[in-house]
Amino acid sequence: MTREVNRGAKSPLPNGERDLEERARRLFAGPIGFLKSAPELKFLPDPDVPEIAFAGRSNVGKSSLLNALTNRKGLARTSNTPGRTQELNFFDVGEPLQLRLVDMPGYGFAEAPKDLVKRWKRLVNDYLRGRTALKRALVLVDSRHGLKEVDREMMRMLDDAAVGYHLVLTKGDKVKPSALGPLYETTALEARKHPAAHPAIFTASSETGSGIAELRTAIFEAALA
Ligand code: GDP
Repeated sequence: MTREVNRGAKSPLPNGERDLEERARRLFAGPIGFLKSAPELKFLPDPDVPEIAFAGRSNVGKSSLLNALTNRKGLARTSNTPGRTQELNFFDVGEPLQLRLVDMPGYGFAEAPKDLVKRWKRLVNDYLRGRTALKRALVLVDSRHGLKEVDREMMRMLDDAAVGYHLVLTKGDKVKPSALGPLYETTALEARKHPAAHPAIFTASSETGSGIAELRTAIFEAALA
């Protein structure tokens, strides 16, 4: 038996998906770099490749997830300064360029001034509604807290803009395995009520790496397959 056959026999994935997973792995192991921050729409890069956007409450683990997905420690800054969050950050993936990851400003700061929240909404809404390059969004939800009203608001914005999205339960390592199942079920039930939410929900941990390869594959598939 060759090594190829051996490896195949161990994997529960059908051939096509295994191929996607491998292509995704290779892409994310290659060149990835910060392109630019856009505090306003006029600073957006040309929409020449597919984009995948990341959304979530501040502190949900968005920067850590971006770093885990790209195998790079400091790609996305793990900073929670409200002033810094009002920008869309673009990351180029692949050489030649294949896709862009877009780090959207975190939401849900209890202490955020009203006009800052307004600006956030305008920037994000305009981007979501007007960006044909945007192929999918990932809405990150902290496993310890589940969906909150601010997450639902984000989901409604995506529904209204008709941008398909996956919910991603972050910090999976922080929750007992016995609690993850029910959390998954409740979240999936709620996702079903949202027209643009995909039924497939991901659970990931940037700490242990669990779920990261699956997420990479989903991103690859949404952008390029
Ligand atoms: P952001 O504000 O959404 O970018 O969140 P960060 O990535 O900065 O993470 C917020 C905090 O959660 C930091 O202290 C991280 O170390 C921690 N964190 C992020 N992801 C994970 C994870 O998967 N597991 C655990 N245990 N901690 C995490």
